[in-house]
Amino acid sequence: MKNSEVFEKTCTKEKKCKVPIIIIVAVLLTLCLTATGIFFCYKAESNANSYANYEDAFNNIENEDTEQKKAEALYYAIVSNSSLRKKEKEELSNYIQYFKDNKYIDYNHVFEKLKTFKITWNNPFLLKEGISATYNADNSITFATNEYRQESLTHEIFHCIEKENMPEGYGWFSEGFTSLLNYEYFDKKGDGWSTKANIIRCLCELIDPDILFKVSATGEPNYLIDALNKKGIDGKKIKELFDLCEKYKVVEFDVDANLQEMLTKIASCFVEMYNTIHDTPDYVRNSFYYSILRILEETYDYYDYYYLNKLKVNDSPETKYNKTQDELSTMIEKSLIAHY
Ligand SMILES: [Zn+2]
Repeated sequence: MKNSEVFEKTCTKEKKCKVPIIIIVAVLLTLCLTATGIFFCYKAESNANSYANYEDAFNNIENEDTEQKKAEALYYAIVSNSSLRKKEKEELSNYIQYFKDNKYIDYNHVFEKLKTFKITWNNPFLLKEGISATYNADNSITFATNEYRQESLTHEIFHCIEKENMPEGYGWFSEGFTSLLNYEYFDKKGDGWSTKANIIRCLCELIDPDILFKVSATGEPNYLIDALNKKGIDGKKIKELFDLCEKYKVVEFDVDANLQEMLTKIASCFVEMYNTIHDTPDYVRNSFYYSILRILEETYDYYDYYYLNKLKVNDSPETKYNKTQDELSTMIEKSLIAHY
């Protein structure tokens, strides 16, 4: 009996022992699997957030090609942005080429912008105001409706990437450059700011358009002023032109404003500047004035020359800037025929 009792006890004990071992193994296995899962999830998550800044992302990309590394770092900023939808990420990726092309772009700045950028749709206030999209101070773009419009997105993206520290009084530059860049560099559709875009075209005839990329990327209009100064144009004339352009921008939609008078003054400033630089013969001066005025009043498509797409299509025959005197005369002739 004793033996059998001992046996039973041992057996019961063994039986009792077996159950907890299975449970312990199962629990351990579950814990192990959970821990592994958590670890991998954490790793994936931390990979997605590990690049706090552009340098980090850039240095961790194993690629010999620096340009490609830059593109990939910015691409990373877009894909790791959890506020964007898949389609929005795809759209944003299309702009990476421009960020690579504009050599003045501050990559850290763009990286930070793209990482936290947001797009919201269906804003009744904008719809009521008749505005298709805006760029907001909190690094987001708002669309008036659900309808996707490439030209609006491109325009607002350029505002977003442009340095915000552009001083007051340069709204005309911001809108004009953004608009011309949108038209020439991307879709050639135009976004409704043609007069200001045409002011930028006139500036491109006076100085190297490269300066404009620099001004936009740095928010420093002094580069523009310096470039005009170097061409022999005095500060007073430059200020006069810039003030006129800003005034035009402010009252553009004011029905009581005399926009025509403003445009003639802007055209006169440009003609004077062009004459200072090129010492234009007398017989050209008057017709040149009409030509400039015509350019300012026109839509995007009227003009046959391209300035801001030179980075993208360097060898394209349609890319021209700073026209020769012959080309200028041809343009004036063409313009005069159209004018009268
Ligand atoms: Zn704008």
